[in-house]
Amino acid sequence: MPDSVVIRVPDPCLVVLVGAAGSGKSTFAARHFAPDEVLSSDGYRKAVSGDATDQGATRPAFARLHRDVERRLVAGRTVVVDATSVQLRARRELLRIARASGRQAIAIVLDLPAGVVLARNAGRRAGIVPEAAVRRHLADLRATMRPGVLEDEGFTAVVRLASPTDVDAARVRRDRA
Ligand code: ATP
Ligand code: MG
Repeated sequence: MPDSVVIRVPDPCLVVLVGAAGSGKSTFAARHFAPDEVLSSDGYRKAVSGDATDQGATRPAFARLHRDVERRLVAGRTVVVDATSVQLRARRELLRIARASGRQAIAIVLDLPAGVVLARNAGRRAGIVPEAAVRRHLADLRATMRPGVLEDEGFTAVVRLASPTDVDAARVRRDRA
């Protein structure tokens, strides 16, 4: 058995999951957090357009997601954002909201080997993302994972899970913030 990675989550705070499509963010969120703590970009796309995969709904979906993240943080709730967040501009807005709400933001990065992510994406029953898009996410993620990049953006803690074993052994411990 590998040592488990203990992820210390200040409660309340903003948890930003970071990972390519197919890396297992939604699965991880469902395993470690309550359903009503998790706001997913797919959920907002579905609410906006009726289709969770409708990329044309991205802008209004994120506008609503950001509004709800802010409301919840201000109300003292922990929020988990389940979106790829592999691009700086996506993370920047989330960090701005956390700062404005007086809450810490932590990043949990599913930085798995490309082969694992591509196989998981290709093997799922629904919501397969075009491989070229997944490869773009993986390239964006590589840039993000240079040492210190996420901390310099403003995350107070960055947890990198670099193998399926690490992901599956991870545990979340909440600390009163
Ligand atoms: P998207 O960004 O497209 O929403 P995602 O990062 O949320 O993707 P998931 O939907 O959680 O990814 O998982 C993708 C596929 O990988 C699913 O078929 C899921 O069952 C599988 N998977 C996720 N996590 C694990 C895991 N820990 N072990 C084995 N399979 C997993
Ligand atoms: Mg998902």
